[in-house]
This record gives sequence, C-alpha cells and structure tokens, in this order.
Amino acid sequence: MIEKNFFIRVIGCQMNVYDGDKLRGELLSRGWREAHGEDGADFVVFLTCSVRERAEQKAVSEMGKFGKKWKKSRRPRLALLGCMAARLGGELARKFPWIAVTAGPAHMGLVPDAMDRALETGETFIAGSETRAAAPISCAPMRRGNPHKAYVTVANGCDQFCAYCIVPYVRGRFASRASEDVLGEARALVRNGAVEITLLGQNVDAYGRDFDGNGRGRFASLLDDVSAIDGLRRVRFATSHPSDFTDDILDVMRDRPNICPSINLPVQAGSDRVLREMNRGYTKGEYVSLVRRIRAALPDSAITTDLIVGFPGETDEEFEESVTMFEELRFDLAHTAAYSPRDGTPAASRTDQVPPAERARRLVRLNGVQAEISRKINASMVGHIYEVLLDEPAPKGEGLLQGRTATDKVVLVRAPLEMAGAFRAARVTCSSPWCLEGELV
Ligand code: SF4
Repeated sequence: MIEKNFFIRVIGCQMNVYDGDKLRGELLSRGWREAHGEDGADFVVFLTCSVRERAEQKAVSEMGKFGKKWKKSRRPRLALLGCMAARLGGELARKFPWIAVTAGPAHMGLVPDAMDRALETGETFIAGSETRAAAPISCAPMRRGNPHKAYVTVANGCDQFCAYCIVPYVRGRFASRASEDVLGEARALVRNGAVEITLLGQNVDAYGRDFDGNGRGRFASLLDDVSAIDGLRRVRFATSHPSDFTDDILDVMRDRPNICPSINLPVQAGSDRVLREMNRGYTKGEYVSLVRRIRAALPDSAITTDLIVGFPGETDEEFEESVTMFEELRFDLAHTAAYSPRDGTPAASRTDQVPPAERARRLVRLNGVQAEISRKINASMVGHIYEVLLDEPAPKGEGLLQGRTATDKVVLVRAPLEMAGAFRAARVTCSSPWCLEGELV
C-alpha cells in the first residue's frame, strides 16, 4: 500500500480554514496521514486567496520553490485549491508540473479522489472553472486545527458584484445551504468538542434569499436555531453586508446571550459617490444609521469594519470622508487595504486609477487614525474583568495563552497549555491598539 502523507497550508480567509479542516477529515478517513511539515509530505495542499494581488504573487513564489525538490525526487506533489485555483489553476499546473491537483472552492469535493489518483497513477487533475456545478466536501470538519472552535459555512459565493471584488467570479453565485444541513453539522461539531461556532458566508445576512428570492428573516431564524444547540457556549457570524443586515438579527442577538456581540460590518468607503461606484448598495447615511441601531440594541457590542482606500477616482476629499467616518463611528478595529486591481473586475479597467504611492499614503494616514481609536477603546478596558475563551499558545511569549472575549478582543494571559479550550475570567492589566494582556482571577 502506498504511504500517503499530506500537509495543508491555508492562505486567506476563514472559509479556507473551514475547507482545509473538511479536507483534513476526509483524507484522514481515507487512510492518509498528516505530516508535521512540508518536508515529510507526499502532497502539500495550498488553500489560496485571490482577493489581493500580493497574496497571489506570494503563493506563486512559494509553489515555484518546490521545483528543485521535484526535479530531484518527484515529491512532493502540490494541490492548488481555493480562489486562486479557480482563476489560474490550469495555467499554473502547466507552468509547474509538480502541481497535480487544482480545484476552486466550488469543487473541493473532487479533491480527495484526485489526490488518491495522483499518487496511485500519476494523473493530473484540473477542475473546470464552472462554479455552478458545485461539488462540496460533505463531511463536517471534525479534525480541526483548533478543536475548541469550528466554522460552519451557511452560504457559498456572492451575488453582490462589488466593482472591485473577484469573489463572485471565483467562488460563484450566492448559494445557501439547507438549514437542516447547517444545523446537523453544527450539532455534530458540538458533540465533537466545539464550544464556539462561527457561521460563515461572504454575506451571511442574505442567507436563504436564493431559496425564494426573499430571504427576509431567514438568517435571524438560523442564528436563533444554532444558538439553541445544547452545549454551544458561543456563536459568531461573518461577514455581514450593511444592505442585508436587518433588525431581526439584533432581536435574536439580544435574546440569546451566547451569540457574541461582535459584528464585522464592512463599510468600504466613507463617500456616497465612491460607495455608488463600488456598487455597494447603501449610502453613508444608511450605514451610519445601522451602526447607531446596533449600538442602541447592543450597547456592549464591538463593531469592526473593512475599508478600501484609493478606489479608482477617489479624490482626496472623498478619502477624508472615510477618515471623518472613522473618527465619528469609532470602530473597535478596521481591516483596511489599499485598492488592489483584480483582472476581470469592472474597477480594474478604469482609467482613473489612484497612483500606488497615493494609495499607500492614504492607508498610512487612515491606519494612524484607527490605531489611536483602538488604543483608547482598549485602554478603557484595563482593570475590568471579562470572560475569555482560552484558545492556543500566544504567537510570542513563553507560557502565555491567547484567548478572546465575547467581543472578539485578543487577551494574553499566563496559563498552562492544558487550559486551552476553557472559559476563564480575566482581569485586563494592560492594553495596546491590537491586543490586551490580563491575569486570571
Ligand atoms: S459583498 Fe462585495 S466585497 Fe463582499 S464578497 Fe460580495 S462582491 Fe465581494
């Protein structure tokens, strides 16, 4: 029998972590073993991201490095998966013959068989780019990188077609999973030890719209059902879309204390003209009013946002509107990025691109403003006690565990590794814009 070892590298979003966990479970159930690193692997799996050009370039360069080893020993083979595979899989497999399998997010279910065949017969597999003929992996992600937390996808793809975004082209059109499937998977994960579940989708609030063209109330009802699962201590969801986030979601969050009061609500721009050109589907005023409604309903909530600076045609004054919006709305955290043109999207072919140096300047200015806001918000938490789910060793600092509050703030505490997965009360002792330090009480 052929020895089959794999190693998974996840680049990109939580949906890739989820797909990677599912693939791990499926491969292990077929007799594959997980290697500790790339060196011991017969197959290295890359789950890639196409949202930004730099992430794609980095993945290409990493995959290219395997050429030397391949020429010498004919191992390891690579599987190129995720959004980048949907866009460039065939082209890269021709360029790098050590790529034996490529499949985008819609075709993950075809990957385990393809990896088996690649090792047994040397066959190369390139999934088509037709995202409608979806073939998902059906098993729940039981063998997770993190045993205490789990993701459950509620919908794949996106129908929004924001002018800068590649997602609808690589992940396909919006497709909700049946609620029985989502609930069945969530229950199985809780039985399997997960105490926190994050419901995932490019636009979770639109859940169910593809069932009947309406979808109103469906996400709120799904959230309610998931949060009622016995033993599930925390429920999160991401990502929300301001046009689809309805007040019934707030009602459910208010009624269910295990739904974490932490909402990621990407705004993307602070100017009405830019929002219109981005095809975001809401105005600045509508966004501000939604944030106010969330804070009125959930006063202890934390709201984070995403924003792009330097979208084609964005003037300096329009950029300053984004800065003013940050100062007024005081988000807990912001994921900001300089606009990155993606081939095939309407914004990429515009002739009024903002020069890269100006995009970089705007990014530095906005990040400076946000860092100061986050610093003050986090400093106000010092001395207070919060329930923290201790999670995993902190990336730096011996003897430190990393945990998260319900509002998704990172807290570092001195605690033994055996405490990972436990809920503990921690008093915050010091803060920075990006994380808190605390002591167990
Ligand atoms: S809502 Fe817009 S930005 Fe978000 S995934 Fe869909 S197209 Fe992309």
